[in-house]
Amino acid sequence: MALELRPNCEWCDRDLPPDSPLARICSFECTFCADCVATKLHNVCPNCGGGFAPRPIRPSQEWRPGLCVTKRQPSTRRVHLSHSEGDIAAFAARIKDIAPEDR
Ligand SMILES: [Zn+2]
Ligand SMILES: [Zn+2]
Repeated sequence: MALELRPNCEWCDRDLPPDSPLARICSFECTFCADCVATKLHNVCPNCGGGFAPRPIRPSQEWRPGLCVTKRQPSTRRVHLSHSEGDIAAFAARIKDIAPEDR
């Protein structure tokens, strides 16, 4: 199963196409933009409490058979926050000072 390349930031809904260098994901593929991760989430995923990493960019060219963004297409299902902004702020405040590897 391939990484699910989600089309938008869950917080600000900006488009994050598969070649975007701004996409950030947690280990469960929750997807946000770099700005929201830095300024709103403080590197705390509001869904799981984990940290974020840059989302790898799937190659646009088919270097190996079947393994490119046109053969393994990104998701088109937009995902939106499932917690309130107040809840997320409190959640991040509680967790952000713990390094992701210690959470
Ligand atoms: Zn965003
Ligand atoms: Zn998460």
